[in-house]
Amino acid sequence: MEKFKLEDLPYAYNALEPYMSKEVLTLHHDKHHAAYVAAANAAMEKLEAARKSGEIIDFKSVTKTLSFNLAGHVLHYFFWKTMASANSGKNKASGKILEAINKEFGSFQRFKTEFTETAKSVEGSGWAILACDQERKDLAIMQIEKHNVNLFPEAVILLPLDVWEHSYYLDYKNDRAKFIENWWNIVNWEEVEKRFIGK
Ligand code: MN
Repeated sequence: MEKFKLEDLPYAYNALEPYMSKEVLTLHHDKHHAAYVAAANAAMEKLEAARKSGEIIDFKSVTKTLSFNLAGHVLHYFFWKTMASANSGKNKASGKILEAINKEFGSFQRFKTEFTETAKSVEGSGWAILACDQERKDLAIMQIEKHNVNLFPEAVILLPLDVWEHSYYLDYKNDRAKFIENWWNIVNWEEVEKRFIGK
């Protein structure tokens, strides 16, 4: 089995300042994301070892662990990719993705409001995600608890926002709303559109 890998960030650790600090980004990528990768690999190794030995292990627990950690890995992978520094020139939605947002939500402002409220109202740890259906390409906003609860089947992740406390607490304390408001400045819409068109 090929191991899951933690890729480097596509920008410097301080690239998202002042909206996301170097300290938060470093811990978030190097510690939190790294831990999900390691745990996903450990779960896969457990399954692989059991397959080799023929042992019946606690499949319920291992698959649950794998789901949580693998989803954590994948969502963080896209989270990093769909951000870019505020002076990158990529932070404004345009083209096909803007057209689709306007069609689905009525206006970009309405989309932003719905996404923001979805992110603000996550109970405890989770995500708000703009996704599209694989076949029909309809856009939808998902509210994910933890990394893997409430996912739509067939959903293509276009734009995820991590609202676990580790994502903002050092920068914003308990003010999740302020973090979300500032995060809009560092969305990489070029990447979001690329993902939307490519699917
Ligand atoms: Mn996270």
